[in-house]
Amino acid sequence: MKLLQNFPSLPDAARRTNRLFVFFTVLLVMLAGMVSSVSAQMAAPKRTVVHPGRLLNVRTGELRANQAIVIEGDKVVQIAPSSEVKSAAGDTVIDLPEATLLPGLIDMHTHLTFDLNSLGYQGLSISTAREALHGARNAKRTLEAGFTTVRNVGAKDYADIALRDAINDGDVIGPRMVASGPALGITGGHCDENLLPPAFHLQGDGVADGVEAVQHKVREVIKYGADVIKICATGGVLSKGDDPNASQFTLEEMKAIVADAHRLGRKVAAHAHGAEGVRWASEAGVDSIEHGHLMDDAAVATLKKNGTYLVPTLFLGEYMEKNIEHSDVPEYSKQKMRDVAAAMQKNVKKAFDAGVKIAFGTDAAVYPHGLNAGEFHVYVKLGMTPLAAIQTATINAADLLGPKFKVGMLEPGKFADMIAVDGDPTKDVTILEHVKFVMKGGTVYKNEYGK
Ligand SMILES: [Zn+2]
Repeated sequence: MKLLQNFPSLPDAARRTNRLFVFFTVLLVMLAGMVSSVSAQMAAPKRTVVHPGRLLNVRTGELRANQAIVIEGDKVVQIAPSSEVKSAAGDTVIDLPEATLLPGLIDMHTHLTFDLNSLGYQGLSISTAREALHGARNAKRTLEAGFTTVRNVGAKDYADIALRDAINDGDVIGPRMVASGPALGITGGHCDENLLPPAFHLQGDGVADGVEAVQHKVREVIKYGADVIKICATGGVLSKGDDPNASQFTLEEMKAIVADAHRLGRKVAAHAHGAEGVRWASEAGVDSIEHGHLMDDAAVATLKKNGTYLVPTLFLGEYMEKNIEHSDVPEYSKQKMRDVAAAMQKNVKKAFDAGVKIAFGTDAAVYPHGLNAGEFHVYVKLGMTPLAAIQTATINAADLLGPKFKVGMLEPGKFADMIAVDGDPTKDVTILEHVKFVMKGGTVYKNEYGK
């Protein structure tokens, strides 16, 4: 009975049906309006069109006038003669008539969360959170210097992964980061923490010894966000108690690291100075040797044979020759720094002459962030043409990163990452130390040319 009482009388039901009909009709009309406005947006997406004085093709060295680069969202969609690109209502037009435009630069070896004074004993007082904030400052400086992508190879407690994610989320201004998390290394090696006596049990985040342990560590850093695996194949300069000439991981350990990293879609970058460590890392299949400053002829030949990239990091040597005495280089590292700085150019030149593949990298942190482009003139001094030097920081670096990163060249489908400078950097590469316009992903971060 109750049911019947609650059942609406017929006229009521009709009114309600009528109201429902009106409601759904209105809803349909609104939805149709939304769909048509979405399709209108899809038909005419917002574009940015850049008209540089000259466009440098970094693959060929050709400089072309009267080119237009058309950007939709964060990607380049078209590059064509300006006369063939019709401007549409709502386009953002950027005219740079005095400038030479080229792809954003790539530094394959940075430590954005570190500064020179975060090394040694004074560095022990700096929290990871503070390092991440140093990283935010350094990321902005690096981007404004024209480096729209960096490969960050080593940070404490995943501060680099946090920084990468903050940049990607738009919380912090900086370059695209391909980040490693903590570098893997042996107990007591270059990538361990060797500053405190045993009672403190201080150990680097990436320490692993033996095949099973290194496999576990590779999987662990990938679990926490590593895009690339950084390992320490030999001793280093800015670490206490180790020898840059001595190899550290064994050949078997490095083979296990490379096998797991590659299977999981990550490249491997190996810090290596000494000749044996360079050879072992290359034979193990790492994708790049970082530094290579104490290589012998056999090590150079091994890189050439295996197609292993060398990331030279040479400008730090010039910087240190001038600044070491009043720098924050720890006392225990000063002699090692002098010895390595004295040898690095000669040994890396052998690799240049042998035709080893070179990707641009600086070790920024060992000298102030933002001076990264100082690296170029050293490559030219050692015999590279300016164009070849520019290629190390664009197409070569992009090749070493891998195609999924879509950087290093201005062409349809790649990220709209570009810089502009006065003059012709293929004649004078030091022009790249004075970048006046920076765009990353279609957003302008610096424009000293005005509009
Ligand atoms: Zn480094």
